[in-house]
Amino acid sequence: SLSAEAFVTLATTDSYCMGATVVARSLRRHGTTRHIVAMITPNVSEQSRLALNDVFDEVIVVDVMDSEDYHHLCLLGRPELGITFTKIHCWTLTQYSKCVFLDADTLVLCNVDELFDRDELSAAPDPGWPDCFNSGVFVFRPSLHTHTSLLHHASRHGSVHDNTRLHGLRRKFFYLQVCSCRFGHGAKIIHFLGADKPWSSQGNSSYSHNMEQFVSLWWKEYLIHTVSSAPAVQ
Ligand code: UDP
Ligand code: MN
Repeated sequence: SLSAEAFVTLATTDSYCMGATVVARSLRRHGTTRHIVAMITPNVSEQSRLALNDVFDEVIVVDVMDSEDYHHLCLLGRPELGITFTKIHCWTLTQYSKCVFLDADTLVLCNVDELFDRDELSAAPDPGWPDCFNSGVFVFRPSLHTHTSLLHHASRHGSVHDNTRLHGLRRKFFYLQVCSCRFGHGAKIIHFLGADKPWSSQGNSSYSHNMEQFVSLWWKEYLIHTVSSAPAVQ
């Protein structure tokens, strides 16, 4: 059934919750028929959770990676990969048969339910590294088996982030029009990848003129939400 499929995003901080809110609002604006799920970590504030509850069908608390993994990552000199481990928890959402993961820094511009016609694992090539996929948008099938093998693979190889060696999964790239200003025209999902996020760049920014219109759209979506149903998240 349709309800057995879901869009999934992740927010481990209150700032990323602002982004997650916009992901959900923009999906609803364009009439998705699928569930919308947020994974959050225990440190996310009560106020942010309440705001997410308003707009998501499900808000699920997941663990940050355990301390043993953290220690391991520090030894590898990559403590920031903890976030990547958290993303991997999306494979545990076995109440859904198929999901589309969207980074919390994405903005949906039209109905993208057609993504559910794709199979695991589908993703867009990374703009900078076309032989790698960008993990900001991908189609996957929740499976505890896959979840375990990804954790194993990650602890052996240090990273599954945006690389092409996801264990047991077919590499299957397709050209979703995940945009940047370079692709602009015809884009269906904007991915604000990089250090500057819409929520951290009010006013000044390094965004191109082309991208600015999407930053404005992002703020419009965010403020509509906060004005109509919940206090602003700081
Ligand atoms: N994320 C998060 N908290 C963080 C960093 C990242 O929840 O502190 C999640 C969030 O869903 C985010 C995704 O992980 O969209 C990937 O990180 P980001 O989008 O910042 O990476 P980029 O796309 O810029 O490479
Ligand atoms: Mn991103």
